Amino acid sequence: MDPHVWLSPVLAQREVERIRNGLSKADSAHAADYEKNAETYIAKLRQLDADYRRALGQAKNKTFVTQHAAFGYLAREYGLTQLPISGLSPDQEPTPAQMASVVKEIKSLGISTIFFEELVDPKVAETIASETGARTDVLNPIEGLTKDDKKQGLDYIGLMNQNLAALEKALNA
Ligand SMILES: [Zn+2]
Repeated sequence: MDPHVWLSPVLAQREVERIRNGLSKADSAHAADYEKNAETYIAKLRQLDADYRRALGQAKNKTFVTQHAAFGYLAREYGLTQLPISGLSPDQEPTPAQMASVVKEIKSLGISTIFFEELVDPKVAETIASETGARTDVLNPIEGLTKDDKKQGLDYIGLMNQNLAALEKALNA
């Protein structure tokens, strides 16, 4: 069971519809407001989806390495392959055998970038980067905000645009 539906801009639209339906049912006096706000937000998500589709559809490489397996829905949506260092939870440490197999695959695919997450210790990603000669960069699974994100006023759309820029760079390097 993969919980990371929010990282697909398409599935995020379905989430907004469900939230709208739930709120409208619980507070029917304001149903028109929920409808209007959902419409506005879904339009932003459609734009985000179009930007992802355009940028990633032309990517030279199709495989990206992540710290944990958060980007499966996103990868599937845009014809990419996620190569996760650990499993579905960010707290899971990879076994030495998993590490060795990831390193081998990175070398054979010539992958340029090892993504890590700001809220998780980057030690494993850094080890793999130094073993493979890849660089590291941040890909945010949006499972929480850092103090810095909050200070910059970054929201879901802002962070997803940062993720798109990072993926575009990694997949075209
Ligand atoms: Zn996760």
